[in-house]
Amino acid sequence: DIPGAKAQLPPSRSTSQSPTPAQIDRFLPVSQAHTMPATLARGQAAEPQSEYFDDYFDKIQPTIAGYLIWSRFPVRIYFEPATQMPDRSQEWVTAVTAAIQEWNAYLPLTVVNVPDTADIAIWRRTPPLQVDRSATRQPELRARSAETRFNLWVDRTIPEKPILLHRMTIWLGMGQTQDYLRAAARHELGHALGIWGHSPTATDVMYSAQVRQPPPLSDRDINTLRRIYQQPTRLGWAIPQPLN
Ligand SMILES: [Zn+2]
Repeated sequence: DIPGAKAQLPPSRSTSQSPTPAQIDRFLPVSQAHTMPATLARGQAAEPQSEYFDDYFDKIQPTIAGYLIWSRFPVRIYFEPATQMPDRSQEWVTAVTAAIQEWNAYLPLTVVNVPDTADIAIWRRTPPLQVDRSATRQPELRARSAETRFNLWVDRTIPEKPILLHRMTIWLGMGQTQDYLRAAARHELGHALGIWGHSPTATDVMYSAQVRQPPPLSDRDINTLRRIYQQPTRLGWAIPQPLN
């Protein structure tokens, strides 16, 4: 095993053979950094060089497309509306809305009414067992009632300049208490916004297991998000065009 090789390659769930780095370079955009939204850039707790700076960036896995960074803001989020039935769907909507507002302090987010035009879609159901072969999932140890997956797609609005983009799908079941539901929504949204990995520390939202007292977003969560958004990515850039 070559150390580090696993981290470079995406988990090969969609195809039996992983593409070679040369194939990836030929068909996907060159990795470049985007400008970070001002809301994420400001209020830095400590400089990365400082002894007080703390994050878990080393736990974040780049994918075949690089880091899962949004570059078109606000990020458009759809969530399933509440039913008219006397069930807990209104509690679920309240939990999801609260989680969106918490992350919105750092990345500009907006709620849309149609799933088709959304960057992130949140469904009120447990994750399907059948694996969508075109999607890559973030495996959850914390709860079997929640999961986040991403797909790649190409925006051909400008035909001569196709842009590689991603979409996120979150499944979040209702079978939890309100506090846990909100914590799970906050955690899965963290994955969908780019934290593709887990913190080893229980006081972070992105901790790998559920805790009795769910914490709010920590400096470490935000420092990690900020470092992710400083990385280069293939997402949001034009796909190389063959020369005719
Ligand atoms: Zn997770």
